[in-house]
Amino acid sequence: MASGINGKTKICGIMGCPVGHSFSPEMQNAAFSAAGLDYAYVPFQVEPGHVEAAVKAIKALGLVGVNVTIPHKEAVLPLLDQLSDEARLTGAVNTIVNHSGRLYGHNTDGKGFWRSLGEAGFVPAGKHVLILGAGGAARAVAVDAALAGIKRLTLANRTEKRAGELARFITEKTGLPVEVIPWPDKEGSALLREALSGADLVVQATRLGMYPNESEAIPLPYDLFKPGQIACDLVYNPLETMFLRKAGQAGAAAVSGLGMLLHQGALSFELWTGVAAPLEVMREILIKNTEFRRQNINNRRQNSGDRRQNINS
Ligand code: NAP
Repeated sequence: MASGINGKTKICGIMGCPVGHSFSPEMQNAAFSAAGLDYAYVPFQVEPGHVEAAVKAIKALGLVGVNVTIPHKEAVLPLLDQLSDEARLTGAVNTIVNHSGRLYGHNTDGKGFWRSLGEAGFVPAGKHVLILGAGGAARAVAVDAALAGIKRLTLANRTEKRAGELARFITEKTGLPVEVIPWPDKEGSALLREALSGADLVVQATRLGMYPNESEAIPLPYDLFKPGQIACDLVYNPLETMFLRKAGQAGAAAVSGLGMLLHQGALSFELWTGVAAPLEVMREILIKNTEFRRQNINNRRQNSGDRRQNINS
């Protein structure tokens, strides 16, 4: 917000269930303020039965647009007037823009990921990418990888069938051949060893290693990582996951998922305002919140441990 809400303030927001945990309101409001824009960003808790009414309300209330988060990213799709290529191909929308009463659906997750890789100096065209995981985030990254002109894509997922479905979908929609290899173990199959040693970029797109399970690392022959490769973890809390630490120790450049979170939000900001996002302001808020949330959870654990100790003593 530039200087408090008034009759001319443009309203954006986030709809999801739950939304209370989202960093986006603080990040977007700080960004509007830094850019001197009279916009405000509000959290909207939308229960699953109210998605259609909530999407209609974007038009009725004249909102500039909203972010969409779990569990509504797929449900809003048929309710919109037009979809970007990314939204159509991923089957999910995370940003809605209201252009004079017509609602446009975008998915900025994949593009946000590739922008964050761009900050690390990575150019996707002609590269080999290995993605570990086949959920929603892996799908967004894989679709945008194909659109960005990578040469080779390899997928591995715990549930191999899901990786197979994603591979077939991408090949059918974009023409990029996609290989599926078995879920890794510490030794690694010959297929995994070949993919891991040859990949320019390895993306960890599963939930493994997320706080509070920070000691978890995807099982891999980490000694195969080498300088010149990039290892990126979509998990952003902690900033340095066990996967990143191990790949980094073997020489790969480590990139945290915080960059994807930042850039997907920056792209939404730009879609709503037409103005370049103040990235450093937004990055600072995300880092502060990630650290703050960790400390809070740690304190709560410590307190409940102390209480247990008192009861027992
Ligand atoms: P999702 O759709 O639920 O998919 C979860 C993925 O994790 C699947 O591939 C699943 O494999 C795998 N998985 C879960 N538990 C596992 C385990 N114990 N062992 C091996 N694989 C396991 O979730 P998502 O939305 O794709 O999110 C995936 C991760 O990306 C999360 O950590 C999320 O926080 C992060 N993320 C980050 C950003 C960002 O901006 N940085 C954006 C979106 C998501 P199966 O198919 O076998 O279940």
